Amino acid sequence: MSLTDKFGRPITDLRISITDRCNYKCIYCRTGNEGALYGDLPFQDYLRMARVLVGMGVTKIRLTGGEPLLRQGVVGFVRDLAQLRPSNGHKEPLDIALTTNGHLLAGLAQPLKAAGLSRVTVSMDAVDPDRFTRITRVPGGYDHVLAGIRAARRAGLWPLKVNCVLMRGFNEDQIIPFGMFAREEGVTVRFIEFMPLEEDRQWTPNTVVTLDEILARMAEYRPLVEIPHARSETARRYRFDDGVGEIGIIAPVSHPFCGQCSRIRITSDGKIRTCLFSVWDHDLHAHMQRGASDEELADFIRGVVQKKEERHHIGEPDFVPASRTMVHIGG
Ligand code: SAM
Repeated sequence: MSLTDKFGRPITDLRISITDRCNYKCIYCRTGNEGALYGDLPFQDYLRMARVLVGMGVTKIRLTGGEPLLRQGVVGFVRDLAQLRPSNGHKEPLDIALTTNGHLLAGLAQPLKAAGLSRVTVSMDAVDPDRFTRITRVPGGYDHVLAGIRAARRAGLWPLKVNCVLMRGFNEDQIIPFGMFAREEGVTVRFIEFMPLEEDRQWTPNTVVTLDEILARMAEYRPLVEIPHARSETARRYRFDDGVGEIGIIAPVSHPFCGQCSRIRITSDGKIRTCLFSVWDHDLHAHMQRGASDEELADFIRGVVQKKEERHHIGEPDFVPASRTMVHIGG
C-alpha cells in the first residue's frame, strides 16, 4: 500500500513530536516565556500511529519536539519503533532519526544508537559560547551541545548534521566560523532560512539570510562546489573545493521545495499536520480514543493526505500564519 497526495507526491516521511516542552528559548522560535503547552501522549499511542503509517508506505520517522530528549522513555520508544518493518517491498530497515538541541545528548547518544536510532541532527546556531547563550537564552548550554555532538559521532550516529537557523542581526556573522567548524568536526553543517513560525511574530523578509547570501559569504572563506542531491532532499549540498567539509542550505523561503515534499507530521497531542504552514490540523488521536480500528485510522489518514497543501505562501500578500508555531508543531 502506498500513500500519495492529490498532487502525486508520495508520503514516505513522518515526523513525530513527542513533547512540545523545550529547555531552550531560541529567539527565532520561542518567546522568553514558557508559552502554551498542548501536552503529550503515552508512547504506545505514537507507536500505534507510527505502525499504521509504516504499513501505508512511510519509510522514515524523525522524532522531534519541543525537545524530544526531555521525554523520559525516549530510548525505549526508539527500540519499539526499530521493530517496525517498512511495507511495500522496501528492502531497507525503517530509518529512525532525531532532531535535538543536543543539550542532553552526551549521555543518551550511545543508548539511542543501541536502541536502533540511525542518525541525529543537532540544532546549534552559533559556534561561540556567548552568542550561543544570547540566542538560546539559557546560560551554559554551548559546552553541553558540543559534548553531545562529539558523543553522537563516537556512538556512530551517522551522518551527523548540525542545523543553524540564520536570522539577520543575530548570527549571520557565524557563516564562516560554521564553515570552519564543519571541516574541523567532520559534520555536515546545514543553514536554514528563518521562516515565519516563531512565537514572537518578528519575521519580515529582511530578517531572512538567503541561500545566495550564504554562498557569497562562504566563498570569501573557501570556494564551495555543489554536490548533486536526491530530489526528495530538502537541502542543497556543497563541498569545499579541497573535499573537506560538507555544507547544506535549506532555503524554503528563497527556493521553496514544496513540489518534492514527502512529509506529514504528528504533533505531540496526536494531530496530523500536512504542512508546516497548515491553518488547521486533523485529530488522529481523537479517532483512536473513539475506538477506531487500524483500518479506520488508515482511511482517516488517507483522507487527510488528500488535503495536503500544494505549497506555502511565505512572503506573499495572501500569506496566513500557521495555526501553530514551530515548537508546538515539531520541526
Ligand atoms: N528542540 C529540537 C531542536 O532544537 O532541534 C527539535 C525541535 S526544533 C522546533 C526543530 C528545528 O526547527 C530546529 O532545527 C530549529 O532550529 C528549527 N526552527 C525553529 N524555529 C524555526 C524558524 N522560525 N525558522 C526555521 N527553523 C526553525
